[in-house]
Amino acid sequence: MAEETIFSKIIRREIPADILYQDDLVTAFRDISPQAPSHILIIPNVLIPTVNDTDTAHEAALGRMVTVAAKLAKQEGIDEDGYRLIINCNRHGGQEVYHIHMHLVGGRPLGPMLSR
Ligand code: 5GP
Repeated sequence: MAEETIFSKIIRREIPADILYQDDLVTAFRDISPQAPSHILIIPNVLIPTVNDTDTAHEAALGRMVTVAAKLAKQEGIDEDGYRLIINCNRHGGQEVYHIHMHLVGGRPLGPMLSR
């Protein structure tokens, strides 16, 4: 059984977060340390630690994460200029919180996808 992270507490509203969207499958809230004018995290309500732990039972939630990202990008006014969706996995991916999350970042030119 995977260990809960702070994100489970955010989903249950046990600790404060700027929640922008929540439904039966996913929750979206502003990143506490934004790297761009818009920086939102979209997470499944069920605890899936990493992309490696996904299976077909999670496809509804994983798909919802993308459609909610599109909806929030429009709401933020960044859909036309564009934005980036990022899911980090494990150490080389730079994952810090082991509850899958999609970063929605935008509001400025984001530059090259990867830095060395
Ligand atoms: P990762 O590096 O795992 O892909 O990204 C984790 C993200 O979660 C980071 O951008 C970090 O700022 C954000 N984060 C970590 N703890 C909290 C928190 O308690 N609240 C919010 N809103 N964001 C958090």
